[in-house]
Amino acid sequence: MQGIGVLESLQELFAADPDVVDRERLGALIRHGRAVRGFLDAADVRFSRRSRQLAEAGQSESPMAVLMDEGRRSGKEAKATQDRDRVCEQFDGFEDALAAGDVSGDHLDVLARLTRNLADDIAADVRTEAADLLASASNDYVSQFERSTKERIACITSQHAPEDEAAELDRQRAESNMKRWTDKASGMKMTLLSLDPIRDSAFHTAVEAQLARLRQDPANAKVPFSLLQVEAVMAAVSSDASARRIPEITVHVDHESLCHGRHDDTLCEMSDGTPLPVGTAQRLCCEAIISAVVIDPDGTVRQLCAEQRTANRQQRRALRAMYRTCAHPHCEVGFDHCRIHHIQWWSQGGKTVLTNMIPLCETHHHLVHEGRWQLEMTADRITTWIRPDGTTWWRGACNDRTEPARRANRPRPKARPPDQLLV
Ligand SMILES: [Zn+2]
Ligand SMILES: [Zn+2]
Repeated sequence: MQGIGVLESLQELFAADPDVVDRERLGALIRHGRAVRGFLDAADVRFSRRSRQLAEAGQSESPMAVLMDEGRRSGKEAKATQDRDRVCEQFDGFEDALAAGDVSGDHLDVLARLTRNLADDIAADVRTEAADLLASASNDYVSQFERSTKERIACITSQHAPEDEAAELDRQRAESNMKRWTDKASGMKMTLLSLDPIRDSAFHTAVEAQLARLRQDPANAKVPFSLLQVEAVMAAVSSDASARRIPEITVHVDHESLCHGRHDDTLCEMSDGTPLPVGTAQRLCCEAIISAVVIDPDGTVRQLCAEQRTANRQQRRALRAMYRTCAHPHCEVGFDHCRIHHIQWWSQGGKTVLTNMIPLCETHHHLVHEGRWQLEMTADRITTWIRPDGTTWWRGACNDRTEPARRANRPRPKARPPDQLLV
């Protein structure tokens, strides 16, 4: 039946001269075009599927090569076709809807992008909502469909264990990168930064602070805004500016979540609404770069500034005198690149006193909060590292600048990459 519709549409398109039609006829022609395009997009999905089967049976070169050679397409286009093929296989009803012109290839592209990196169990849950997704794709414009699908996936993700959320952030951290190239036509130098939400927020808060300063300067009154933005980025990355203390991130979190972890009504997000794993909010509380807005049990809002939470200058100096590096026994990251971690977490009542503080590099700070390793420390600074399953991994002193530890620990285990622990 769809085939007949497409044939009719093709005949209409052949017969028509779009250059002279009135508005009503133009609308009809565009709809015929949509029907034909949907049919061809759905045919592409079937071509991709068949090329996969042939390649698996050893009767063809790779599906990518077939789609590119026979279709005269770029690798990017061939990849997009394969992505649509995957979506049609995983989400019931989408292939028929595509063939019927009820949803567009762009809808499928959105779904492909949003589901590409999901953990298996989350992806399985998203697939159970295929009927709702299809209804939304059939009724909504692509941008609306993208927004609602994002929300749907965020909701499903948050229903899973909080560590899945942290894993998502870990993945984003690991995928962060910077690309730099020269645009041949203009000779302009291009830089593309891909950042996880936390570093993005830190980066933009620093830029915004510089931008606000530049805009106050009357000398800049006539400078175009886009140029000022660039000036602000340059100022933010210069070493002077980074010495100035700016609260880089604001986190909104309710008291119950901060102290005891996620519950049904957890609020834990950045100021732009990006949801944040509770473990991450707890880790950020150790760091000077955030201001936390905490909603207390009685509903009042407390702004907690860095001074209440983080080591002061004297305490840092004392810790530096004890630790040359991160307090992880295999870590060589220097003290000045470390965060000061609260052994008893600040969010759980830990005090900002020397006996409760220890320097950890970012990787190991992450390991303790999001990775759910436990760290214990005696009054004489013997630390115990406990795996998430409760077994002890290491016990000893890492205050490597002080005499007893130097005696007890020599030779200190050397430079095993800290990442090994994360697996
Ligand atoms: Zn910490
Ligand atoms: Zn470390």
